[in-house]
Amino acid sequence: MTTIPLREVNVATVRDAIEQLCLDANYVAADDVRAAFARAAEREVAKLGQRVLLQLLDNMTIAAGERVPMCQDTGTVVVFASIGQDVHFVGGSLRDAINDGVRRAYTAGYLRASMVARPIGTRSNTRDNTPAVLHLDIVEGSDVELIVFAKGGGAENMSRMCMLTPGDGLDGVKDFVIETVEIAGPNACPPVIVGVGVGGTFDSVGTLAKLSLARQVGSENPDPELAALEAELLQRINALGIGPHGFGGRTTALAVHVAIAPTHIASLPVAVNLQCGPAARVRRLVI
Ligand code: SF4
Repeated sequence: MTTIPLREVNVATVRDAIEQLCLDANYVAADDVRAAFARAAEREVAKLGQRVLLQLLDNMTIAAGERVPMCQDTGTVVVFASIGQDVHFVGGSLRDAINDGVRRAYTAGYLRASMVARPIGTRSNTRDNTPAVLHLDIVEGSDVELIVFAKGGGAENMSRMCMLTPGDGLDGVKDFVIETVEIAGPNACPPVIVGVGVGGTFDSVGTLAKLSLARQVGSENPDPELAALEAELLQRINALGIGPHGFGGRTTALAVHVAIAPTHIASLPVAVNLQCGPAARVRRLVI
């Protein structure tokens, strides 16, 4: 029997990575998001809508140059950690290290602390934006991949899920997605990126939708059927006329990302997780 040597990773490395990812996510718009805004500004025919897009591009430039947050809402930190099964963490608790990274970023980086300890009752602020929402996955290999979202409350609040049934079919899924963006209107700070999860179970479909937002904005879905669905949904959403920040225009969404998972014969769960484009803060790192 061959023994595969474990790769030791000190949790301090994870802590430092999380700190940096949180800071970068808040200060610097990712290249794919910036490029999507630039394309949208060129195409937008509504004058006011175009002006909003150009102002949002200016906002990204100023935020990156001055190292200030792109938005006052600096978000809930959601971490997806894919951990190779040949990794052995040393130096303490992984969960504590991740929360330490968040704490350091939000304290030293003067980012707004947005987390309350109890959702009902006192709703007292934890003062350092912890705890992060943490999704752990064990994968093959010896890498650790971290995906960090700083997820704004406005767009998150307008996200929805529904347990459709197979009889509702693809049309039911499409209608639910469009209806969600329509109900959100200006409240999700459009232009949005629309993450759609279809399949799985009640608990997993929301995670599927959120993770789909980590895909590069403007990238083509490798599944041709889903690529066609994304194109149709994007076209229908942008025909709603909500426009940048709700001022009207063609740019209500920058992209639609659809992810699917196997599901029960009696089920058709669907979740729509909206990501505000003006503060689309997703970062990825492999250590
Ligand atoms: S939804 Fe996004 S852009 Fe709007 S206030 Fe929240 S973080 Fe900022």
